[in-house]
Amino acid sequence: MSTITLSSSFDVADPKLVRNFSYINGKWCAAANGKTIPVTDPATGEAIGEVASLSAEESSAAVDAAQNAFPTWAALLPQERAKRLRRWFELQLEHKVDLARIMVLEQGKPLSEARGEIEYGAAFVEFYAEEAKRPNIEGVTSHLPDAEVELWREPVGVAALITPWNFPSAMLTRKAAAAMAAGCTIVAHPSTETPFSALALAELAERAGIPAGVFNVVTGRPATVVEPWTQDTRVRALSFTGSTEVGRLLYRQSASTIKKLVMELGGHAPVIVFKGADLDVAVAETIKAKFATSGQDCLGANRIYVERPIYDDFCVRFVEATKALSLGNGMDDPDIGPLMNEKAVQKQEEHVADALTKGAILACGGKRDAMGPLFYQPTVLADVPDTAAIMHEETFGPVAAIAPFETEDEIVAKANDTEYGLVAYLHSHDPRRIYRVSRALQFGMVAVNRTKVTGAPIPFGGTKQSGLGREGARLGMEEFTEIKYVCRDWA
Ligand code: NAD
Repeated sequence: MSTITLSSSFDVADPKLVRNFSYINGKWCAAANGKTIPVTDPATGEAIGEVASLSAEESSAAVDAAQNAFPTWAALLPQERAKRLRRWFELQLEHKVDLARIMVLEQGKPLSEARGEIEYGAAFVEFYAEEAKRPNIEGVTSHLPDAEVELWREPVGVAALITPWNFPSAMLTRKAAAAMAAGCTIVAHPSTETPFSALALAELAERAGIPAGVFNVVTGRPATVVEPWTQDTRVRALSFTGSTEVGRLLYRQSASTIKKLVMELGGHAPVIVFKGADLDVAVAETIKAKFATSGQDCLGANRIYVERPIYDDFCVRFVEATKALSLGNGMDDPDIGPLMNEKAVQKQEEHVADALTKGAILACGGKRDAMGPLFYQPTVLADVPDTAAIMHEETFGPVAAIAPFETEDEIVAKANDTEYGLVAYLHSHDPRRIYRVSRALQFGMVAVNRTKVTGAPIPFGGTKQSGLGREGARLGMEEFTEIKYVCRDWA
């Protein structure tokens, strides 16, 4: 695999951004046994390239590199780490067009969403470049008459970062910038379905002057390359974004080495629309919350509850807005692109069939589109009963489920009746109700009369089975630190 087998579709201005070897200790590495993993364009089904499939030993070599690089990186003046992160941020924006094309080709999302993701992901790098410079010492009131006490925040060590395919760039920058700003070094594993975005970020990290061994990207079969990290005592933190199922597995695997864990897992977001809410806003925002990234978003609106008196009106407007959405190849910048894989399409089919069997009404869509095997039509199901699977499981696709409700108490109980707790959306114009319901919702994030909640300065994360810890804000960096308490005697 000395040359890259790549589709001409990449068509990027800077071909060096398209890498297919793993990046370890500042070098691009193929698997010694020559093994590779093919990557396909979900829109066309065409092979777009292949990436190195590393062995467990080769993956452990990335930890060697990160461990060796750690003392020097941790000891660097924070201002120096900040400079390199700042340069990494600038390079991401300078190469935004190429990075977005790479993402669309491997992930399928619409081009403008991909550009938005590059900007969003880069904003975390900018934020943590600044945050790196903030004081990492906290004074505390002494409990002793003759001693001074301080808390120092020190980098935890090597951090393993495991990221999903739905946001192949931002999920990595969000973790990596926080970890590197804290002084940690990194071994990262991107999803096998979307490795090219992460490898392009490694190329830019090198250009930004991030030293060899600080940021390593390991491609390969996840069980092969990630398990050695969970068992390795040198890996002191593991930050994972992905499904709750795999999160549980990594949690168990990490138990033997007692790591710090950050888990950004699945979601099952309710949207609650109360009478009196601005219906234009509620419909437009819920369309975004449902169909962005073709519905493959942990923040995706999975179940939409509308108060009975405005239910019919909401449904009519929502169906109309859904029918107006365009479906197409992400490169043509439609509203909705293909789904990631066959399993994802089958999940839509299963959830729709199940809901219809249980009495839901199909208002639009409801099948694969002639555009290609991974295109599923934007779909609305109305009158969906609580017994339908879609009201309890993450759908991760462009199927909207709507149901009416009668009272506030009833709907808060229903919204909370889930193992997930990532985000909830609420539409109302009654300030007291907004306060009451926001308090009662058992979710890590509540969005009121809007959809977009996430950004670099805010703590992103969920409760219950949606995860542990937070990304973004100062808190996101602190996840990669340990507190050292120092007690100085003046005697
Ligand atoms: P996934 O759990 O299948 O994979 C995520 C990552 O884990 C990938 O890098 C994958 O290669 C790796 N992985 C898979 N099996 C593994 C194993 N046995 N051992 C070690 N690593 C393994 O998730 P996905 O399908 O890529 O992403 C979709 C899921 O991610 C959804 O559930 C979604 O809700 C969730 N997600 C959550 C957030 C959040 O911030 N809470 C953000 C985006 C996505």
